[in-house]
Amino acid sequence: MLTNFCFKLRPNVTHSIKMSNWLDMLRSTYNWSLADRIAQYNQQFIQGNYCDITTKGEACPLTCFVSKNGASGEPWKDNKSVLDGKLKNPRRSAGDIQITALPELKKRAPWFSEIDSTVLQQNVKRLDTAYKNFFEGRGFPKFKNRSNFTSFTYQMGVKLQGSKIYLPKLGWMRFFNSRSIPNGFTIKAATIRKRQDGWYVSIRIENKSIPDYIPKPLNEVESVLGCDLGITKLVHLSDRHQINNPKFSTNKKAKRTLKIRQRRVSKKAKGSKNRKKAANKLGRFHKKITDKRVAYQWDVANKIVSRKVDAVALEDLNISGMLKRCKVKVDEISGRFLKNGQSRKKGLNRSISDAAWSELILKIEYLAVKQGKVVIKINPKHSSQECRNCGHIDKSNRDGEKFICTQCGYHEHADIGAAKTIRDRCLEIVRGDSAKLAASQQNAQKISPRTPVQTWRVWEPVQTGY
Ligand SMILES: [Zn+2]
Repeated sequence: MLTNFCFKLRPNVTHSIKMSNWLDMLRSTYNWSLADRIAQYNQQFIQGNYCDITTKGEACPLTCFVSKNGASGEPWKDNKSVLDGKLKNPRRSAGDIQITALPELKKRAPWFSEIDSTVLQQNVKRLDTAYKNFFEGRGFPKFKNRSNFTSFTYQMGVKLQGSKIYLPKLGWMRFFNSRSIPNGFTIKAATIRKRQDGWYVSIRIENKSIPDYIPKPLNEVESVLGCDLGITKLVHLSDRHQINNPKFSTNKKAKRTLKIRQRRVSKKAKGSKNRKKAANKLGRFHKKITDKRVAYQWDVANKIVSRKVDAVALEDLNISGMLKRCKVKVDEISGRFLKNGQSRKKGLNRSISDAAWSELILKIEYLAVKQGKVVIKINPKHSSQECRNCGHIDKSNRDGEKFICTQCGYHEHADIGAAKTIRDRCLEIVRGDSAKLAASQQNAQKISPRTPVQTWRVWEPVQTGY
């Protein structure tokens, strides 16, 4: 079983200066590698092999690092296993080529040799992951700046002893030993991350003797809890319970503090020390909000999952679609822009982001699998407009929190009704025809590939009386 533990580090001044320098250096190689891959693509696939896009002149194909080493040099991984036919794709990938070039980088720029080698390798592999995400349809890799490049990963050599951690090339460092690592687990990797209030380490640990959690097969599911996510209340459950939404960043007090701190930053001279100080204060406030939200969400997820049901039914929401801006409206005669309702929608968008539904869903999935339960995602179309008595679908059925059917007069709390509808749709799928079952079972096996970082929970979740 693989899992992550997160701790706060206590670096001394030398440590933190060194780590900050590392981040700058790693960011530069990351950006360089990305630019190189883009150049390789341009040279090999757009312009053909013999033209360099930047100089616009005819050039040899060896101007870009990856295509140079891919074309000549060592394009093959291992001759022996290629001959045996063991390797299906013996050609080196762009990532492989860039990793084998790291010693050369250290020769050319000797200050890079102060960084641990596995950190440098993981840095290139990070770009591979970014490309993999891109090919799966999630946006092209971005060039990184100081604000979105804040971490690096060790693959080997990390040791723990009491409340001290050994990081290769950085040395022994103290950390807040807030939870102990259970026996039998070995350290697989460690990621160091800079946040507003200091440095954190997330340790990936593994114990092969403990099997992975297996979600319940769908044909054993008998009872289902339906959840309807919202903003006025965070979750409505089909057993008539409601869970509050504390609106951590959009309540009146937080909004006011954010406004004041933001103004204090923008009033200071650019590049000044005071601006930096003010920005740090603002960042710390943002972090405090995030921490509160994360802690609350673990609590909510635990409440939902530890009910006596076999499965939790959630809405399959398209959150990025909900956050999209309104379409621009232009007056055809004068060419001026008309009101399109975006300024009204802005507040709603902020509330949606503040509720962080996808983070909550991730936590529910994680805890559910841990307790041998299943999370099933349901199409929420018309779930709050459909009458549960006669099936009549109409927008005017719903008036705020009230639901009154215009055809049969059936009335209920709108959101709880929606949660019940979601539960019933889920039960339909579970008990429904075999094709549907097989399709959703395939989805069920894909559940929770990503483990959310768990900071405050104890090792095994305590069963509460909900
Ligand atoms: Zn009705």
